[in-house]
Amino acid sequence: MVTLQDRPSLGSEAYLATRLRLLRLLRELNRANTTALAGRSGMSEPVVAKFMRELESNGLVERSALDDGDGAGLAERAGSAVYHFRPAGMKSGAVLISVDTVQVAVIDADGAVVGRVEHSLGTDKRPAAVFDLIVDTLHESLAELGLSTRELLGIGIGVPGLTSFHSGVVHFAPHLPGWSDVPLGPRLSERLGALVWVDNDSHVQALAERYFGLGQDGGEFVSVQSGMGLSAAFYLDGTLYRGPRDTAGEIGHMIVQEDGRLCDCGSWGCWETIASVTWLVDEACRAEDGSFRLPDWLDIPEFSDQDYQSIWDIDPAVVRLAAHTIFQAAHQGWPRAIALVKQHGQYFGIGLANLANMLNPQRIIIWGDDIEAGQMFLETVRNSVARRAIKHPCKTCEIVFSPLGHDVALLGAGCLAIDALYGAN
Ligand SMILES: [Zn+2]
Repeated sequence: MVTLQDRPSLGSEAYLATRLRLLRLLRELNRANTTALAGRSGMSEPVVAKFMRELESNGLVERSALDDGDGAGLAERAGSAVYHFRPAGMKSGAVLISVDTVQVAVIDADGAVVGRVEHSLGTDKRPAAVFDLIVDTLHESLAELGLSTRELLGIGIGVPGLTSFHSGVVHFAPHLPGWSDVPLGPRLSERLGALVWVDNDSHVQALAERYFGLGQDGGEFVSVQSGMGLSAAFYLDGTLYRGPRDTAGEIGHMIVQEDGRLCDCGSWGCWETIASVTWLVDEACRAEDGSFRLPDWLDIPEFSDQDYQSIWDIDPAVVRLAAHTIFQAAHQGWPRAIALVKQHGQYFGIGLANLANMLNPQRIIIWGDDIEAGQMFLETVRNSVARRAIKHPCKTCEIVFSPLGHDVALLGAGCLAIDALYGAN
């Protein structure tokens, strides 16, 4: 008997959730007929059959020609179609919101980022304007690839702010005005007719490592975002640890100096105040006479044209540009730049030593701006950790750069959908 519960309206959230549930079930079984799927899911067989036909037309499952008898009794009944999951058909939508752009792409089964489109947020960064931009950009990307949202597992969104994964609400995004308790996930799910998952940009990076990077071997790892803000994601016991309010990983605000510098968060001596690239640029610009100015060995027109009094007057994009220029100067052999990068690595290592002691991960993966600092930075970090961390856990903890390149967070956003299918949720 077909019950009402079996028949959520086409495209509704309940329909999409049921579609994913059946797909997940088939992935676990690898191969099953509609009778078995109906039995396992508690749904009626005609409804299951309808869902499977739709999944087949979207390339996510394939109908097996014949039951070859290895289905553990799952395909015995005549007339009950046998399906198998088709990993190669997996595609997920990926959206990455940054402080000044929206990037959209489709992630295929091999982790390739295809149909990538990027647009500036412009001057209006309030939620409604960004929602419209995401919807338009996603449609632009899908049109370019000749796809519809129905062919996607769903859409993952990475956000630079405090986000509740379970409700899809963005609680706070420091560089996006008006983003306070914004129901990004539910609103976009409704507008796009697709399942939508939302998480912060640091968490999604760990999922990218899990599915396509250095976490594929199933080891426990911590990924650490370097740059102006520092954060981490913990992939432990086969799953991403988010914590009860989904905010785990704010290690930039781990206090490492009792009377240290004032931090953005209102506290003092946070790790971020000495191990971010903001510190690096600030330190480079503190002249011996106490003034704040660009040193002679750095040439950054965007910086020198302005009359900055302190690091806090500088646009974040210019701070990042200055940090990358310091890294280049170190690569070119400028002694002051080398000294700064090494000091930066020493401080970065303090936080990683704490992580190694606390969590005993097999691997700590660094991503973000500091990758540009190269081996000189990485070796200094490793030495700093080796000197500070407890020897036994540290000995087995590898400290490496992410191999996934600049698109790692965008790839990770798409991995939210893949994790809904493969993860331990
Ligand atoms: Zn802080």
